Amino acid sequence: MQKTLNDLFLEQLKDIYFAEKQIYKTLPKMAKAAKISQLKEAFTTHREQTQGHIARLEEVFETIGRGPQAKTCEAIKGIISEGEETIDDFGESEVLDAGLVAAGQAVEHYEMARYGALIAWAKQMNMPDAAALLNETLQEEIKADQLLTQIGASNDNKKAA
Ligand code: FE
Ligand code: FE
Ligand code: ZN
Repeated sequence: MQKTLNDLFLEQLKDIYFAEKQIYKTLPKMAKAAKISQLKEAFTTHREQTQGHIARLEEVFETIGRGPQAKTCEAIKGIISEGEETIDDFGESEVLDAGLVAAGQAVEHYEMARYGALIAWAKQMNMPDAAALLNETLQEEIKADQLLTQIGASNDNKKAA
């Protein structure tokens, strides 16, 4: 039987559910590794938000009458491994924070791509409640990404001074 947009939506919902859970597990490592307090705080705050993202996805599963289910996301596993590599390779370096900002942004951009698509599909399938829930999370991912950009820039300025 030919698969539908609904199948695609469900696949990607399971993918981002897996990803959010991995991110939730990884953020404490990033916070611990960060040298400047602003970056530590950003990762810690985003971890609290990520708990909310997981809960919202569970609500989205509910709107489609399903229990939450995760499907391995190879992409987020790769992005997280690269971040861990940065911590291992640059742990002693003054550019570690710059590397952590970039690693965090790779995560946020992946999430933004996934949520953007899910929202578009939810709207196409006339699922406004799911679209609204997913959009609340997307807005938090966008803000987290912007904050990382700011921290990266102010960190550069400090070094230049
Ligand atoms: Fe998230
Ligand atoms: Fe994925
Ligand atoms: Zn995020």
